[in-house]
Amino acid sequence: MYLKVLIIILFFTSCKVTKSTLLPYELELTTRSNSNNSKCSDLLSYHPDTLHPESDITYTISMIFHIIEGPLAKSNFNLLEGTTYFSNMINNCNYRLSLNEHMKLPIGNKTSVFDSKIRFEIGNKNLTGILPFYHHTVKDTAQAYFLNKGLAQNNYNTDIFTNYSIRDDSLLNVYIMSFPPKLIKNNPKEYHGSGIALGSNIKMGGMYQKGGPDWGYATMFTHEVGHVLNLGHAWVQDGCDDTPIHPNCFGDGVGPCSDGSIASNNLMDYNNNQMAITPCQISKMRNALAKKGNFQRKLLKYDFCETSTRPDIEITKKVIWSGEKDLDRSILIKKGGSLQICCRLSLPQNGYIKVEKGGELRLESASIENACGYLIKGILKEKGAKIIEL
Ligand SMILES: [Zn+2]
Repeated sequence: MYLKVLIIILFFTSCKVTKSTLLPYELELTTRSNSNNSKCSDLLSYHPDTLHPESDITYTISMIFHIIEGPLAKSNFNLLEGTTYFSNMINNCNYRLSLNEHMKLPIGNKTSVFDSKIRFEIGNKNLTGILPFYHHTVKDTAQAYFLNKGLAQNNYNTDIFTNYSIRDDSLLNVYIMSFPPKLIKNNPKEYHGSGIALGSNIKMGGMYQKGGPDWGYATMFTHEVGHVLNLGHAWVQDGCDDTPIHPNCFGDGVGPCSDGSIASNNLMDYNNNQMAITPCQISKMRNALAKKGNFQRKLLKYDFCETSTRPDIEITKKVIWSGEKDLDRSILIKKGGSLQICCRLSLPQNGYIKVEKGGELRLESASIENACGYLIKGILKEKGAKIIEL
């Protein structure tokens, strides 16, 4: 009988201690400045998370297209043609991004392959009055045509952005342009579909004139978005140890590789494949998109802010998140688990970090928020859980 009563008391005691309590506001939303924490800028902090891949959300970049027709001969898609062509191209970009291939160089490398979890979407992010596709007839030939060589080279000129870009603080503006008709007619082999990234605007030239299927330009476009997201050309020193310096051959055994050597397949080289993105390149791009204040971050779709029904991320081991992070689900720190947050962390609306008895949350210059300003529940602490401010 005594034993029975004791068991019942223990049961109720146990129920009581597992009840969650909401901590005071100051601890819920620790907002000390993280600008001095060098970890928040370290590229290694943005390496794909192998222990909790679900903590790396998909970042979707929103974009609109401008098809530019010049005053001379018809040299570009009409609106309907362009809408179909570039919708297909973006679908193909996303498909290829999802495939990410193993690096061909250096030979024998064991470079890991991860999904960058970066995707594209043509859309206006619910900004009123903005369309996904525009068609402009531009009379000024200096602005209307794309020229990346010769005396009249204008590919770096940004006048057309001043005149036609719409909300390029929030949307990637993509310009589909043509080469001056006479030049390409006289020297068709001199000109190839090409592009240039200038801040949150991209110019793509010659696709209509050179022809070919929509998917044929997908990696060229993704290459330009790579530049927008801080990637450099990979055949030279680009700040990444996993992209070796090489002669930038277009294919195996071609050009400088005619001695039989192997060409790169990296997205940021000029080659006939462009299907590999390394962990360092992924870290660079995700750093560009995660760091608050970066212009690239403002191009995101922000589809991770709303209330989420996804299962919590369960922390059962020692985990350190040393970069800025956006989550699309809440966190549950289990007994024996320890989570250290070093920078900004966004939880979905009504999201929480629940620390169970025997679990530990370590806050090092952390700021916990909802990236869109919605309310979050904050930190829920069970009796016997540890919260340590470092
Ligand atoms: Zn480039």
